[in-house]
Amino acid sequence: MSETVERHEFGAEVGRLLDLVVHALYSDREIFLRELVANAADATDRRRFEALTGGAPALPEGAAVRIVPDKPARTITISDPGIGMSKAEMAENLGTIARSGTRAFTQSLADAKPGDRPSLIGQFGVGFYSAFMVAERVEVTSRRAGAEEAWRWSSEGRGDYTLAPAERAEPGTDIVLHIKADAEEFLEPIRLRTVIRKWADHITIPITVAEDGV
Ligand code: ADP
Ligand code: MG
Repeated sequence: MSETVERHEFGAEVGRLLDLVVHALYSDREIFLRELVANAADATDRRRFEALTGGAPALPEGAAVRIVPDKPARTITISDPGIGMSKAEMAENLGTIARSGTRAFTQSLADAKPGDRPSLIGQFGVGFYSAFMVAERVEVTSRRAGAEEAWRWSSEGRGDYTLAPAERAEPGTDIVLHIKADAEEFLEPIRLRTVIRKWADHITIPITVAEDGV
């Protein structure tokens, strides 16, 4: 690891949420894709809005959320041309639980009987950490619209994460999921398309699922 890599601890509540999400929602784990696509669409909407007010460069022609499964590499990459995150935003948004909604979800999930948990997922967004239901490591490479530099956040979802300088040609975000051995079904494009049709029908930005590795 290069010496520019910084290691940070997660905020106190993140560990608890990660544990709950990964263990309590096992049978509903396909929703990781709904959560990550929703974040990509939110980020794209935000860039569109900030571009109108002159605060961000305009979205490129044909802007879309791209999902690329790669079986040999055992990764799924979800890319968006959205607003992106600065280094400080990554630490704040991915390293702590700042939102009251997530806190309420954590509490409700902890209090719920196991049989009641699936319905809670519909009521609350589970959020970014649901990626750890299917991934043993998550890497987020992001470049804030308007900035030149990019940063990479990386974590195995166990207490800490790293931040390091990275490169990205355009503003936006790539989420790389290193898929767990028991979640390989999600490396199948057809499986991903089925989940998208089921959960992301209302998303207005185009979503593409590449054939394996393309
Ligand atoms: P929520 O979407 O409800 O705010 P999440 O846990 O899904 O909660 O995401 C946490 C935060 O991380 C988001 O609010 C956003 O600031 C940031 N984030 C996540 N994914 C992206 C992305 N693809 N592009 C830009 N920011 C993102
Ligand atoms: Mg979200």
